[in-house]
Amino acid sequence: MDQTMRTYICTGCGIGECVNADRIAELAQSEFQLTANVSHFLCGPEGVEFLKRDLAENGAQRAVIAACSERVNWDVFSRDNLGVELVERVNIREQVAWSKPPNDEETQALAEDYFRMGVNKAQNTTIPPRREEPQAQTLLVVGGGITGMTAALQAAAAGSEVVLVEKQDQLGGWMRQLYKLYPRKTPYQALETPDVDAVIRQVQDHPKIRVITSAEITAIAGEPGAFDVALQAQGQGVSLQVGSVILATGWEPFDATKLEDLGFGRSPNVITNVMMEATAKSGKLLRPSDGRPVQSVVFVQKARPAEQGWFSYAATVRDMIALKQALYVREFAPEAQVYIIYEDMVTLGLYESFYRRVQQEPNVFLTKGAVTEVAASDDGSVLLTVEDTLIGGGLQVKADLVVLAAGMVPTTGGSELLRLRYRQGSEIPATTRGFTTSNYICFPYETRRTALYAAGAVREPMDIVACTEDATGAALKAIQSIQLVSIGAATHPRVGDLSYPKIFLQRCTRCQRCMEECPFSVIEPNAEGYPTVNPDRCRRCGVCMGACPVQVISFDNYSVTQLSSMVSSISVPEDGEKLRIVAFACENDSYPAFDMAGINRLPFDVSVRVIPVRCAGSVNAVLMTDALSRGVDGVMVFGCKSGDDYQCHFITGSGLAVRRLTNVRETVTRLMMEPERIRPVQLEIADYNLIPQLVQEFAEELKQMGPNPYKGF
Ligand code: SF4
Ligand code: SF4
Repeated sequence: MDQTMRTYICTGCGIGECVNADRIAELAQSEFQLTANVSHFLCGPEGVEFLKRDLAENGAQRAVIAACSERVNWDVFSRDNLGVELVERVNIREQVAWSKPPNDEETQALAEDYFRMGVNKAQNTTIPPRREEPQAQTLLVVGGGITGMTAALQAAAAGSEVVLVEKQDQLGGWMRQLYKLYPRKTPYQALETPDVDAVIRQVQDHPKIRVITSAEITAIAGEPGAFDVALQAQGQGVSLQVGSVILATGWEPFDATKLEDLGFGRSPNVITNVMMEATAKSGKLLRPSDGRPVQSVVFVQKARPAEQGWFSYAATVRDMIALKQALYVREFAPEAQVYIIYEDMVTLGLYESFYRRVQQEPNVFLTKGAVTEVAASDDGSVLLTVEDTLIGGGLQVKADLVVLAAGMVPTTGGSELLRLRYRQGSEIPATTRGFTTSNYICFPYETRRTALYAAGAVREPMDIVACTEDATGAALKAIQSIQLVSIGAATHPRVGDLSYPKIFLQRCTRCQRCMEECPFSVIEPNAEGYPTVNPDRCRRCGVCMGACPVQVISFDNYSVTQLSSMVSSISVPEDGEKLRIVAFACENDSYPAFDMAGINRLPFDVSVRVIPVRCAGSVNAVLMTDALSRGVDGVMVFGCKSGDDYQCHFITGSGLAVRRLTNVRETVTRLMMEPERIRPVQLEIADYNLIPQLVQEFAEELKQMGPNPYKGF
């Protein structure tokens, strides 16, 4: 009997009333020669004490625990808590007892299959070592505006050494160019004077911050914990080694020449909100065409469709700016009439108080309406036609000055900011409309390049308050990344994972698919075209493993062999009436959705064996065809939503999975089977209630197709 691995079966939480735990224990002994213990309530204090004692007394370093999902009680059953090198959890609660009919032969078969899978998985796992190597601890902040300065100050306050690089000859960015700020704190009534000089002094005086101005990055090579940065600053070359990078290069104004339909370029008295700021900063507000005092000013807050390259979500910033600049007019030309014409007025949260305050200001009129025509008159004034107003009809407004709300465009658009020496490109890939965040929902600050974080308006239009909060968040992420990398561990979303892809080069065909499909540009070709891994750039998604046509990429704790052993754990009845379906489910959303279905006691088809995978993109084609050639009737691959507004935690992983299925289906056809036996599904966790129906529909279709002809071979 193998005593290095011990197995345990819990009968608590209704498991014992649903399946026969003793039969699973017998299976452990007969099929795997492993000792199995059946206990009630393993997660309770007595259960945990029993586990620790039993493992220690037998000198076992590996435990397979069949109980609840690994997504719960993870601290109770952690390897640290139990004092072993590996704990494999087998989910017979959410996936069996809570979602399948009790005391049924098919339910028992399901529990036994899951148990076999757990043991096989544990037997095919090697423990990745923890690395202890000195890494560069310094943090590089690119951009010396309010976001970059705040990130530098926060990181320095936490004890990090920081290098702050700015392309201009002084710090401060846009904040130096602002006349006033809209209120940043309760009661949100009075404009504030920018305090940027005080922030600049703090940065310059901080002993842990080195400021380099008039600087341009000429190259960044290497990987997290060991980035080699080359700069040109004031005609000199500078070399740095840093552990992580924060990109805080901010925004630039939307190209106003594209606002011709609103009069820009047709009259000098039509300006943008950025130009208005400069006008106020100059200390006087005069009509640009002839220098006469202004008697009427119109702010145009026109909504534009995002497809035309506009940023509808800039509204919250630009509307607050219009409210602020209306008060500039009150200050410089108290007699002037001010109109703010908006289609949607967005003032987030307590900023609403400022909106109300401006609304009550004499001579300021806020009007909902769409500006449809802007005509310049010979006398220098501008005539605006407004339709769809709240009072129903249209109106015409004559203005001495028109201020257009322009959007905030991220500086990433075409500029060379970081000059990365990465195979997949020299800049951080941008998502929709040029912003660099890799996943808006789950990972703000993260980009598609590991340990390179984005903060402030470079990742979404935001104001100074939001930028400072963002900078703090990014600084903490950058510090955390350096700490994780120093032990060889992954950052989000597989935080702490010590494995990394290993490539068996003797069988590599140099197809370079792994280099192309890795979402994080981890793998680079060497001089002979063979792949070389930069391990600390890796997020451990396994997309490369899914891509490799000859299956030579694996991890110590995740491999095609391991997944294949789990598929072969499934007992396929020769009786064609009993279906078997394998569902590879992404561990980020889909597998939790299956658990949610169980937690909500939503019954779903007992023929499905759910196998958690790191990403749908990590499922190698061979796993699907193997499953079918073993007699499994159908394969489902569950991933996150792909496309421009993707939710995939590994960016392109789920999209690649769908794309690759075309090839798999061709192979299935060659096996003389219906390609529809492979089914991709995109599912978010909130859609867990769809699982019973999705599975049921697939099962019905498989029944129509008839049993897999390979059954019994
Ligand atoms: S595991 Fe993911 S991030 Fe790492 S090399 Fe493979 S594809 Fe790239
Ligand atoms: S995908 Fe596989 S075969 Fe192709 S280059 Fe990468 S490791 Fe080699």
